[in-house]
Amino acid sequence: MTGSGGVDGRIPVAVLGATGSVGQRFVELLHNHPWFRLAEVCASERSAGRAYAEAARWMQASPLPEGVAEMVVGPSAPPLESRLVFSALDAGVAGPVEEAFARAGHLVVSNARNHRMDPRVPLLVPEVNPEHLALLEGQPWEGGIITNPNCSTIGLVLALKPLHDRFGVRSVRVVTMQAVSGAGIPGVSSMEILDNVIPFIGGEEEKLETEPLKILGTLGAEGVEPPDLRIWAQCNRVPVVDGHTACVWVGLERPATRETILEAWRDFSPAVAASGLPSAPSPTVVVLDGDASPQPRLHRELGKGMAASVGRLRPVKGGEFAFVTLSHNTIRGAAGGAILCAELAVDRGLVPGLARPGR
Ligand code: NAP
Repeated sequence: MTGSGGVDGRIPVAVLGATGSVGQRFVELLHNHPWFRLAEVCASERSAGRAYAEAARWMQASPLPEGVAEMVVGPSAPPLESRLVFSALDAGVAGPVEEAFARAGHLVVSNARNHRMDPRVPLLVPEVNPEHLALLEGQPWEGGIITNPNCSTIGLVLALKPLHDRFGVRSVRVVTMQAVSGAGIPGVSSMEILDNVIPFIGGEEEKLETEPLKILGTLGAEGVEPPDLRIWAQCNRVPVVDGHTACVWVGLERPATRETILEAWRDFSPAVAASGLPSAPSPTVVVLDGDASPQPRLHRELGKGMAASVGRLRPVKGGEFAFVTLSHNTIRGAAGGAILCAELAVDRGLVPGLARPGR
């Protein structure tokens, strides 16, 4: 195994869909990443051949990282130099493009929905179901595909996992308030979203009701077996730039109190958090005190945007508990989450020819 193949000891990586909302987060987060070096940026034929600064309408609060502005955008098609490929492609095109890369020997870590529910593909949250990476072994491609779940799903399962392990989660009712960056660039128009709440996001409720079942499922000989859990979701778009908030009502199989639930969150220490992966937050779940937390503007950057925060825990009628959870949708819920998935795959030696730098 080689350390990388990169010019500075880091592993060269490519970003497909590099010009969009999630693609720009990848560019930002990969700048000065200790293991990965952004080597290639790709997008549609509309952007291909143009300098990145010209093709992308840079919407991040940080300046465009040095050296990226003049990178020439390539088409989103193999071959590429980088064995590791992050996909932030529009779901309308991601499916076949990602498969073409996997067939050509690349490991694709995707944010798009297309392969998430494919039984051969891990739907990965490294702190929750790292063992599902074993699915890579059964994939039919020379390379492979790992998927990052839906942005609201990631925050929800990070909050649910400690409760599921200790008490058994049996029912979840969830109402989300989702940021506009989740709709991509240019996304929803100002005339639609300012002074407003839109009580519908196409396809989102279905994702929130199904993806957690795969993530919290048990990997067996026949693939992932879902838990006995039912989820009902209502998703809303709100005039917040970044950060998805979710109000959750949870039914548990075994007795719990407010104190034991808080303890379960505070004690949650997944192996990934201690394994030195550069993007793993510690703590994974941040418990916030007070009656008015979490809030997107105040708490979305916790753990460099990679932690899920929880608050307002209270018992409700029928033995259920209610709480609010928040996570950053384009960092934890997209680019940052995908980078953490790739760090885990590299750390475990699952990317042929690549090893953790410094080992
Ligand atoms: P976006 O801002 O609309 O960006 C889409 C990207 O796909 C752009 O780079 C675009 O390139 C590229 N693209 C479009 N058509 C293409 C084609 N025919 N061939 C190659 N590239 C093409 O969308 P986004 O919000 O970043 O989302 C990207 C993906 O991540 C989607 O699948 C989305 O569902 C998922 N996701 C988004 C979030 C979020 O919070 N935004 C969270 C989790 C997952 P051009 O600029 O050249 O058109």
